[in-house]
Amino acid sequence: MFADIILPIPFDSFTYLVPPELQARVMRGCRVVVPLGKNKIYTGIVSSVHEKAPQGVDVKAIINVLDEQPAVNEQQFAFWQWIANYYMCPLGDVMKAGLPGAMKPTDEKALKASGKPRSPKAAELQQFVTSAPQPLSPAQQTAMDEVVHSFQTKNITLLHGVTSSGKTEIYIHLIDQYLRQGKQVLYLLPEIALTTQITERLHHFFGERMGVYHSKFTDAQRLAIYKRQASNTPYPLILGVRSSIFLPFQHLGLVIVDEEHEQSYKQQEPAPRYHARNAAIMLAHLFGAKTLLGTATPSFEIYHWARKGRYGYVPLNQRFRNMQLPTVEVVDIKEAKRKKLMKGIFSPRLVEVMRAALDRHEQVILFQNRRGFSSLIECKQCGWVPRCPHCDVTLTLHKKSAAMTCHYCGYSTRIPERCPACEGEKFIDIGTGTEKIEEQITRLFPEATTLRMDLDTAKTRLQHERIIDGFAKHQADILIGTQMVTKGLDFDNVSVVGILDADTMLNLPDFRSYERTFQTMSQVAGRAGRNKTPGLVILQTRSADNDIIRQITQNDYWTMFYTQMTERQLFRYPPFYRLIYVYLRHRDDHLLDHLSDDMAARLRKTFGERVLGPDRPPVARIQSLYIRKIMLKIELNASSDKVRTSLLTIQQQMLAMPIAKNLNIYYDVDPL
Ligand code: ADP
Ligand code: ZN
Ligand code: ZN
Repeated sequence: MFADIILPIPFDSFTYLVPPELQARVMRGCRVVVPLGKNKIYTGIVSSVHEKAPQGVDVKAIINVLDEQPAVNEQQFAFWQWIANYYMCPLGDVMKAGLPGAMKPTDEKALKASGKPRSPKAAELQQFVTSAPQPLSPAQQTAMDEVVHSFQTKNITLLHGVTSSGKTEIYIHLIDQYLRQGKQVLYLLPEIALTTQITERLHHFFGERMGVYHSKFTDAQRLAIYKRQASNTPYPLILGVRSSIFLPFQHLGLVIVDEEHEQSYKQQEPAPRYHARNAAIMLAHLFGAKTLLGTATPSFEIYHWARKGRYGYVPLNQRFRNMQLPTVEVVDIKEAKRKKLMKGIFSPRLVEVMRAALDRHEQVILFQNRRGFSSLIECKQCGWVPRCPHCDVTLTLHKKSAAMTCHYCGYSTRIPERCPACEGEKFIDIGTGTEKIEEQITRLFPEATTLRMDLDTAKTRLQHERIIDGFAKHQADILIGTQMVTKGLDFDNVSVVGILDADTMLNLPDFRSYERTFQTMSQVAGRAGRNKTPGLVILQTRSADNDIIRQITQNDYWTMFYTQMTERQLFRYPPFYRLIYVYLRHRDDHLLDHLSDDMAARLRKTFGERVLGPDRPPVARIQSLYIRKIMLKIELNASSDKVRTSLLTIQQQMLAMPIAKNLNIYYDVDPL
C-alpha cells in the first residue's frame, strides 16, 4: 500500500510506502510523520491511499500516524486545491499556510507532543447569557432587510455604508440570525483592524460562542482553536484575520468580509499569494454559504460586479445618529512653502485647527504614511546616501534607536560619524516620517501629549492595543500614525484629522494609486466626528487642483470610480482584465537579464501581446536576489486552466536548462 503525502515544502506531494502495521490507520486527511532526504523528518497530510508503486524511485516508508481522525476535512482539501490552482503554487505551500505551526512539527520531541487531542472542557461550552444586540436605527434596519432580501437571489452582497453608519451593528444582527439557525459564521477583518475594540464589542453579544484567530497568537492558541473547530463542539462564530479562512468549518452559513477593500487581505510573501476576500468567497461557495462584503470605499473589482448585478448591492448613506460626515479642507502646501510659512511639515492652518481642538479638550489624529524619522540621510558635503547592502533601497533613519534600517530585509546599522566617501561630519535628513512628526509636535504643542502608532511602536498585539486603548481613554491628545490609524477605529472624541502629505500616495507609479489614495484618505477622514463633535479634516497637498483631491473632499466615490474605470478599460487593467505577474529571481543580475528575456520570448509565443516586460520592479534587489517582473494581461473569459498549464509548461522548459539551475520563478495572480 502507498500513500501520497502533502508536506509543508514547495511541492504538490510525495509518495510513501505504508508499512503493514500502519495500514489500518493511514487515512486521507490524517497527519503522518515521514523521512525526507538524508536526515529530515516532516509532518505531512495524507492526500490519498493507493496501490500504484512509483516508478524508478526509492520509496521510503511512513514512520508514524499522528491522528485517529482526519485533521483536514474534504472541504479543506477542495479549498486547498482551489488555492493551489488559482494562485499557481504547489499544494505544499498551501498546507504550510493552512495548518498552525504546532500541527506540523519537524523535530522528534515536538512530534511526540503534537498528537494529543485537546478537547474543550464541558464547562467552556456552556452558552453564556449575553446581552441582546442594540436595536437598529430605521436606516440600518432597512439596510439589514435589504441584505437579507438580496441573499435570497445572490450569494455575494456588498454593503456600501459610509464610515460610522453602523455596519458593525448590522453584522451583529445578521450573525445573530445565522447562529440561531445553527449555522457557523466567519467574520474576517484586516490584520490591523482586529483590536480589542471590535473583539470586545462582539464578545459582548456572542460571549463564549465566539473564537478569535489572530496571527499574533501563540502557536498553542492557534492549535487549540483549530482543534476545537475540528471537534464536535466548534465555535459557531470565528472572528479572525486572513489566515482564519484555513480553519476547518463544518456548517458555515455566512462569511463577512469587513473593510473588503483593504490591501492587507492579500498575502504578498511567501506563497500562497492569495487574496483572503476572494478566497473567502470561494470558501463560502464550497459550503453553499453567503458572503457579505462591507466597506465605505469599495474596491473597484467588487463595486464593478455589484453594479453589473452579479453581486447584490446595499447602500447605507447616513451616519448613525445622523452625524455629519467630516468636512475635508484642502491646504495647498506649495503656496505655504513658497511663503516660508511651514513649521516643519505643519501648515499654519493645520496648527491653528489643532490648537483650537486641543483647547476644547478634543483629540487629533495625524496621518503620515511613512515610519521612522526621515526617509533617508545624505552627506551635506558630497551627497553620499547610505543604502542597504542586500537590497536596492536607501536606509531609513530611526533617530530614537540611533539606527538606519532597511524596511525590506530588516538590516540595521549605526548612523556613521563620518561620511565614508568624503569624511564629512554633517548629514541632512530628507523626508518626514512619524518619528520626526512626533518631535515637531513637542516643539509646536509642548503641552500636548502624543502617542505614535506604526510598525516600530506597535510591534506586538499588546503594544498595539495599549496605544488604541490609551487613546480611547484620552491618555493622549494626539495620535500620530501610519496607515495603521486608518483602519476601522472608533474613537468618540476625535474632532480633527490631519493628512500631512497626500502626494506620496497619489504619485506612486501604480494603476491603483488614485483608487488607493481615495480609499485611504476617506477612511482616515472617517475617524473624525464619529460621536459628539463634528469632524474637520485638513488635507495637506501640493496638488490641490488634482481631480482626485476634489473627489475626496466631496466624498464623490462615483466620479472617482467612473473616470478611473475609463482608464482601466483603455489600458487593459483590472477589473476588465486579469493580471498575472511572473517573477524571476537570481543572484546574478546579468544572467537574470538573459533568463528573463528568454522567458518573456517564450511567453510571447503563446500569449502574444498580452505579455509586457521583463522589467525591473521599483525595488529590484531584495536580500541579495535580483528580481525581474513579466506582466500578463489576460481576458476575463480566457480559461484559467489553459493559462495555468501554458505558464507551467514554459516554467518547466526554463528550469530544465542547466544555465537556469538557481533560477527561482513564482507567480502573483491578481497582484495588488
Ligand atoms: P461603521 O462600522 O459603519 O464604521 P460602527 O458600527 O462602528 O460604524 O458604528 C459607529 C458608532 O455608532 C459606534 O460607536 C457604534 O457603537 C454606534 N452605533 C451604531 N449603530 C448603533 C445602534 N443601532 N445603536 C447604538 N449605537 C450604535
Ligand atoms: Zn560625504
Ligand atoms: Zn535590505
